[in-house]
Amino acid sequence: MFEDLLSLLFPETCYACSGSLARGEKYICTNCSVKLPYTDFHVHGATELNLLQRRFWGKVPVRFAFSYLYFRPKGRVQRLLHQLKYKGAKELGEHLGQRYGSLLSDFQYNSHFDVIVPVPLHKYKLRRRGYNQAEWFAKGLSKSMRLPYHGKVILRTTHTGTQTRKSRLDRWHNVEQVFEVDRPEQVQGRHVLLVDDVLTTGATLEACARALLAAGATEVSIATIAAA
Ligand SMILES: [Zn+2]
Repeated sequence: MFEDLLSLLFPETCYACSGSLARGEKYICTNCSVKLPYTDFHVHGATELNLLQRRFWGKVPVRFAFSYLYFRPKGRVQRLLHQLKYKGAKELGEHLGQRYGSLLSDFQYNSHFDVIVPVPLHKYKLRRRGYNQAEWFAKGLSKSMRLPYHGKVILRTTHTGTQTRKSRLDRWHNVEQVFEVDRPEQVQGRHVLLVDDVLTTGATLEACARALLAAGATEVSIATIAAA
């Protein structure tokens, strides 16, 4: 009753198009839900037809690479990610995680993974934003795939103090190596599903995957909300 009154006074809007949501709709309206650019990476699994997977070939061994959506600038997906990252819509991350997790479970992928680990946020960004959007996506995946997730397994380390004296090449190398596994016991002997909100060049995920494997993870797979 109170909720009905509240929604009458402050109608909830769709995170993808800003239109008002109808009764029963949550976060994303039906029209946007239908029109989102879904990928088919999960249909192809680890075969060469999985184009996302292929992007990691020769870089780091990745068992499966998945992304729920394609990233298209100025479209619905960009608006969703903007809400998730800058407008405090962390529950949207969880919602997308739940949706994607149940799709991946329908294809029985959940049985492959042991633990879900999000890519960490820079410490100063975490302080400013108050939450790690990748962690909320991980939380949603964890619920619908019935797998544990550990939010603080990987750490971003910075070498700002020594960086100025180094050559440009060394610095670039440093940037590549900023991830460390803080709690190796959480990943040792396990197949880790590494997750992030968006994949652009894939360099961040690649560096994290490498850190996880070095820490003793048996396998690493990747899932993101959107891939460019
Ligand atoms: Zn909409």
